[in-house]
Amino acid sequence: MLLTSLLRILLTRSFRPFTFKGQYSNQLDFAGMDNLGLYVHIPFCKSICSFCPYCKELFDEELALKYKDALLKEIDLVCKETREKKAVTSLYFGGGTPTLLIDHLSDIIQKLKEYFIINDGIGVEIHPDELTDEILGKLQNADVSMVSIGVQSFDEGCLQKIGRRNIKIKEKLSLLNKYSFSVIDMDLIFGIPGQDKQILKNDIETAFSYGATQISTYPFIDFTFANNEYKPLPHKEKRIMLEYLNELCSQPGINRTSVWTFAKSDTKKYSSVTRDTFLGFGVSATTLLQDIFKINTFSIPEYINRIDSNNLPTALTLNFSKRQRAVYYLFWSAYSLHINEDSFAGLIGKPLTQMYKFELFIAKKLGLLTKKDNMYCLTSKASYIYHYLEQKYTTAYIDKMWNISRKIAFPRKIELK
Ligand code: SF4
Repeated sequence: MLLTSLLRILLTRSFRPFTFKGQYSNQLDFAGMDNLGLYVHIPFCKSICSFCPYCKELFDEELALKYKDALLKEIDLVCKETREKKAVTSLYFGGGTPTLLIDHLSDIIQKLKEYFIINDGIGVEIHPDELTDEILGKLQNADVSMVSIGVQSFDEGCLQKIGRRNIKIKEKLSLLNKYSFSVIDMDLIFGIPGQDKQILKNDIETAFSYGATQISTYPFIDFTFANNEYKPLPHKEKRIMLEYLNELCSQPGINRTSVWTFAKSDTKKYSSVTRDTFLGFGVSATTLLQDIFKINTFSIPEYINRIDSNNLPTALTLNFSKRQRAVYYLFWSAYSLHINEDSFAGLIGKPLTQMYKFELFIAKKLGLLTKKDNMYCLTSKASYIYHYLEQKYTTAYIDKMWNISRKIAFPRKIELK
């Protein structure tokens, strides 16, 4: 907690915390945003995994259909002032298990296409249970070009420790060969008790051999509100595992594309978080614009009620100071291991070297950053520090925010210090 607070104070040059207030506006100013992305949250699952922190509940068809109608209406409410179609980068569906609404995803995509031109593809998260010819065929027909499969591990013992079953996953992954998705991401978790280097090696090799173009490896984090029977391995062991993952993936044809992702060369990235600005639709979805960050309510009934009254379902809004916005930008740029000076200046309105001259100097001296053209690149030493900090911020910020939001549909205020 002390570390996260100190860094925040240092980088924002202020004691002011990130303060989210229970206020909302029905106008979102996204028309002038470059590199805007879209995200849609589908919060239903067939069963609940003990480790999972995301906003979801057990699938109920009647509720899911009402939710879909509310989603379509939310899109209309957000975009009603749009004069002409706006170009966006990509559209990602996450959850939950988006494919539980497989017969309705194309309606949602079509609704978004009334307002947006999607240039870099449509991505959908898939639970391994849902890998069937019927679902994959329907995704392809709906113009989905990127899939992300929540494998987590191929090891039976590891799966059992995080509350998952093995469901003949290799057989199911083989089906992907028949389709032409340009990006196949597979999520894997490291730091599960009992997991060792051999298991990790097998997980990585199996994922690539079954067609993964990208592997997203996440450290096992024990959220306070998750239901984990087994606790993650200690930090030191997780760091050794990440070093080993990096070593395993340091081979020709594979690039490290972020602190926790590795992708085949010449393939596009599956990345729903590292975008400069984005609009989020559905419960718990976040929207990041020039100077605001907003979060929708986590309650499905309250989400539907708000939409029914023709109001946006925003629960909390953070109005960024310039330095807070800069820090947010830097945090997610650093995750992708590069900080582009021009993009920073374009979004924040001031040169990076002017705002963070001292920090850049120190980081270069400590061997954390190198500079190439207009790009600052994180060294591998910096990537391990980032890995450590990201887990600290997850506990200090995301855990707190999600824990409150799960209990209170419209919190009055949340301060992240
Ligand atoms: S991990 Fe995926 S399937 Fe499991 S509860 Fe979370 S969202 Fe649902």
